[in-house]
Amino acid sequence: MKAIPYGRQNIDQKDIDAVVEILKSDYLTTGPKVAEFETLFAKYVNSKYAVAISNGTAALHLCALALGVNKGSKVITTPITFAASANCVRYCGGEVVFADIDPENILLDIDKVRELLEASPKGTYQGIIPVDFAGYPVNTEEFRKLADEYDLWIVEDACHAPGASFINSKGDKILSGDGTYSDLTVFSFHPVKHIACGEGGMITTNNKDLYDKLMALRTHGIVKNNEIMEEKGGWAYDMVTLGYNYRLTDFQCALGITQLDKADQGLARRRSIASRYDQVFEGTKVKTIIPPTQIGHAYHLYVVQIDNRKELYQKLREKNIYAQIHYIPVHTLGYYNSQGYKKGSMPNAEAYYEKCISLPMYPSLTDEEQQYVIEQVLAFAK
Ligand SMILES: *Cc1c(COP(=O)(O)O)cnc(C)c1O
Repeated sequence: MKAIPYGRQNIDQKDIDAVVEILKSDYLTTGPKVAEFETLFAKYVNSKYAVAISNGTAALHLCALALGVNKGSKVITTPITFAASANCVRYCGGEVVFADIDPENILLDIDKVRELLEASPKGTYQGIIPVDFAGYPVNTEEFRKLADEYDLWIVEDACHAPGASFINSKGDKILSGDGTYSDLTVFSFHPVKHIACGEGGMITTNNKDLYDKLMALRTHGIVKNNEIMEEKGGWAYDMVTLGYNYRLTDFQCALGITQLDKADQGLARRRSIASRYDQVFEGTKVKTIIPPTQIGHAYHLYVVQIDNRKELYQKLREKNIYAQIHYIPVHTLGYYNSQGYKKGSMPNAEAYYEKCISLPMYPSLTDEEQQYVIEQVLAFAK
């Protein structure tokens, strides 16, 4: 059996042709494909605005900047995520405060967040960064209620979750990134994620003011508009804030567009792979997370929990199956330790980490490959 990774991109001839076409065109960066990709992506997640960014980490950084995170800002997030969800607060000099996870769905536990908020005077915290971990959408309606009580913003890290949805209390379908409850939502187009641009990211929002800020911050804080040009000349621009070069290139956006064409198909395949795993692991020592039916899980990852996880990880590698661990709790990483965060402070996250392992999950995983993975895992768990 050839090597089976935990995730991989799905590139076909259409993707290749789309990139080559742009390489032969006038614009390699900031051409027509950027706005086209933004428009199509906004449509896909049902948001008003979308801003293409060079990668998901830069997108998180710009969110923190646009929301005014600075020295003295306290922002709450989950320890079970990729470090970037927390790092974006540190880039701006803010303080990261971790709240533990709910062991049922591995998402930031809203009750733990409420406890934190209640324990300090109002105004202590500035925002919350919940993460749609593995593709399981956070109930942002509940987070919005809590955030409004304490005047907080919400940046949803949906890097795992394009296409994920839940049903709100009114019976409406809420898509991750549709801007109903989150102020800003971040996506990543790293090759292991649903849509691959090589590197790439997107921020979606329904807030025009934040949208304008992000558009300026993405390109040095420079704005160019008719008013300035009419007054001073066609060359004129102004730099209104200290921004960055966090642009996504035109050929990456062209790839994003053809990738987006296949997103629904890929999501359906991910769900079908998950449902097969769910079935075969039921009643075994392999613990799965099966969401209730009103949850539209996007399955970036298929995580199981098992005793002797390290041994399984090793056994699978011997069989050419490259399962992965998501994630080492962020508060236990060396940098965060050096900042005073302590192991033992997030018992649910730490207990989850001891047993978790992400099995292969990507649209081009064949039925035979999945069957092979299942046989190896079940042989171990007997
Ligand atoms: C991938 C990822 C990021 C960062 O995205 P990049 O595009 O790799 O910079 C942030 N948060 C989460 C949860 C991710 O999985």
